[in-house]
Amino acid sequence: MADETEPKVGRAGARPVRAPHGTELTCRGWAQEAALRLLMNNLDPDVAERPDDLVVYGGNGRAARSWADFDAIVATLRRLDDDETMLVQSGRPVAVFRTHEWAPRVLISNAMIVPEWATLEEFRRLEDAGLTMFGQMTAGSWAYIGSQGILQSTYETFSAVAAKRFGGTLAGTLTVTAGLGGMGGAQPLAIAMNGGAALCLEVDQAKITRRMRLGYLDVQAQDLDHALSLVLAARDERRALSVGLLANAAEALPEIVARDVPVDIATDQTSAHDPLLYAVPDLSPEDAADLRVHDPKTYVMHARTSMADHVKALCELLDRGTEVFEYGNGIRVEADLGGFKRAMDFPGFISAYIRPLFCEAKGHCRWIALSGDPADIAVIDAAMLEEFVDNESVTRWLRLAARHVRVQGLPARTCMLGYGERARASRIINDLVRDGKVRAPVAVGREHLDSGSVASPYRETEGMLDGSDAIADWPVLNALLNASSGATWVGVQHGGGTGIGRSVHTGMVVIADGTPLAALRLDRVMTNDPGSGVVRHADAGYQRAVEFAAEQGIRMPSLDAATEEESWTTRP
Ligand code: NAD
Repeated sequence: MADETEPKVGRAGARPVRAPHGTELTCRGWAQEAALRLLMNNLDPDVAERPDDLVVYGGNGRAARSWADFDAIVATLRRLDDDETMLVQSGRPVAVFRTHEWAPRVLISNAMIVPEWATLEEFRRLEDAGLTMFGQMTAGSWAYIGSQGILQSTYETFSAVAAKRFGGTLAGTLTVTAGLGGMGGAQPLAIAMNGGAALCLEVDQAKITRRMRLGYLDVQAQDLDHALSLVLAARDERRALSVGLLANAAEALPEIVARDVPVDIATDQTSAHDPLLYAVPDLSPEDAADLRVHDPKTYVMHARTSMADHVKALCELLDRGTEVFEYGNGIRVEADLGGFKRAMDFPGFISAYIRPLFCEAKGHCRWIALSGDPADIAVIDAAMLEEFVDNESVTRWLRLAARHVRVQGLPARTCMLGYGERARASRIINDLVRDGKVRAPVAVGREHLDSGSVASPYRETEGMLDGSDAIADWPVLNALLNASSGATWVGVQHGGGTGIGRSVHTGMVVIADGTPLAALRLDRVMTNDPGSGVVRHADAGYQRAVEFAAEQGIRMPSLDAATEEESWTTRP
């Protein structure tokens, strides 16, 4: 989006940043080095969407509050000892305290605002005053790895759609979506990996070009007629194909509906979580830029009206039998604010497809080779294929990823693993580092979008069985638990995904440096972190989570007083 949407962060000090590669330490230990390399990796021009503005992805998700703050974080990490902890308050390093070697080296809190003040307007005021920063999800807690980070979950979501409605494959189907940014850019490849045809609407030519360069998008169409001829031919021939079209979704989608195009699946990943980032079709770029700066309220009004048109078209497709879902950007609530009152007729993707996985804490882990050597990821891939040989979803994904995912910044791999599996995977990685099979330590973390780490009533916790959608104790407990269990750094944030006022969520990373201490820390964090997700869902009454907690020996004193004694004496 145009720079004019941005608060007064400033570009003073902006320059290309790339994480150091290799085995030489630039900090006093690998934990600090891991934090430094992942922070820098977030801003690598191959990884970040707008690195000069410190924006990593998600419209306005930043890695640091300003370039001066970035420099101060880097300098502090270089001096930080193995028993010290740096506090980062919304992208600014504010303190270093002596703690102990099991403690996190970095604690991060981003965009936290007292609930009554947690509105987008107040957030922007505070951001413009230089007091806070939007961290989105993995950007602000230094664990973003480029489009691959979202690729597997997007792939799994579309696989779930295929399983629900289309006999297990998207071959012979047409999906229409919008937004080819940091997250949304994974959609075309994920749909094609499921065998489908995808039409992706995007207003920014640079985003289309970038996705084609990164191998996430096959072709760009000249106009809507051309786009439809390409995707409908692919659909009819049951051929995978992704087509980008330079168009505004609020305009093009109603046109697609008017032409009665047979759309099988429809969704959207424009940056709707912040209406200032949603492109309005009936404003010239100059007028839009001017309004964003001088009259943001009017811009937001236009954006919400456009989102109402966009979501109305989605509802019309829904009425015709199209599989429609919101893809985690809050567009339904914005359309509702824009006057379209049927916006909540279709579900969010978590409640529609992902929640059963969350009951077993299945979610997206990631490991990042700090050496910068893709061979390290290949070695870990091979070890995981052996360890999880009986797990079809893991082996299928690892093989697909090795074939389709290009390296962006530090080489990394995502993988969907549940309770128990994450600890096993971490143990394998730490052993590979210990035995010198990989060249340097590896950072292990996960998405914020995970089973125990989020309260987000329009996304991860929409429609919880017990009505606990907005209860945010769970992510806070998750962060505290991870810090107590030995994570190398922990971040708590507000507003990621669906926007300010609408979510609280956490992230963490643990370093696998091959030492016995790392083995212990990895085991604790990679057991307890997903364990908190099982507990969150069991507490809400999901039967599978209740059974799973019992099967795994996860102790939940609140669940059943009758079995209390037994559960307290059984250690997992
Ligand atoms: P981004 O800002 O990098 O990309 C958004 C894209 O939408 C931009 O390229 C922009 O040009 C385009 N766009 C804006 N208005 C448009 C319009 N009217 N028509 C067509 N294109 C338009 O953001 P991102 O990282 O891709 O994230 C997208 C959204 O998804 C955000 O709201 C984010 O909060 C949310 N999100 C989703 C997930 C997930 O799991 N799916 C995770 C985190 C965040």
